[in-house]
Amino acid sequence: MNKNFKLEQELEEFVKDLCVDLFGIADISKIKDEIKISAKVMKDLNRAIVLGMRVSSVILEEIETHPTRLYFHHYRTLNAGLDQTALKLSNLLQKKGYQAVPMPASQILDWQKQSAHLSHKKLGYLAGLGWIGRNNLLVNEVLGSQFRLVSILTNAPLNAGAPLKKDCGKCVRCIAVCPAKAIKNDPADFDHQACFAKLKEFQQQKFVDQYICGICVKTCKGRVSDL
Ligand code: SF4
Ligand code: SF4
Repeated sequence: MNKNFKLEQELEEFVKDLCVDLFGIADISKIKDEIKISAKVMKDLNRAIVLGMRVSSVILEEIETHPTRLYFHHYRTLNAGLDQTALKLSNLLQKKGYQAVPMPASQILDWQKQSAHLSHKKLGYLAGLGWIGRNNLLVNEVLGSQFRLVSILTNAPLNAGAPLKKDCGKCVRCIAVCPAKAIKNDPADFDHQACFAKLKEFQQQKFVDQYICGICVKTCKGRVSDL
């Protein structure tokens, strides 16, 4: 393993120049069976670099009882930006002689199960970028849940982060605002079905063309330790 962190620093500086707000490295060696890529491809890929870009707080402010068209556009723009940045970082890693797989920022494989190739949220958690909040999203100390993620799988010998020993603590701000009553005191009780039913409703009402909401994202502003 690379003990002097030089490569990690170089990669972080590279993406910070590309509007990336969060950078972390996850050890994925023990969760490869959760990643929907062939075992042959995954064989030597033991690390995931996780990148996050902040969501515009002004655009979130416009959301009241349903997602807005502006938020929908912003959501897609962020995903496109993350995909482009993941591509650039992957190219850099490949030029250095490493394998690198930029994973889609937002590509659902099964809409009913809401499953993708992997969970960026879980990789972000493993990398130490935040904890799983009452809203079932990753919560970062500075950005709250107001960011989106992408991941790059690699065989580069990177030092990995570790999950934070933190949680939402006394904050319960998102429980009252959820229109589906999906958010509970215990994050383990999050009602996925109720949340998904509300996202479908928003899409059927033509507020947006995708299953998104933004209400609990707007509410989760970070720095919960300051409360
Ligand atoms: S995305 Fe919307 S419906 Fe789902 S938990 Fe958050 S506020 Fe509730
Ligand atoms: S708003 Fe508060 S309770 Fe809800 S996820 Fe964010 S930090 Fe946790």
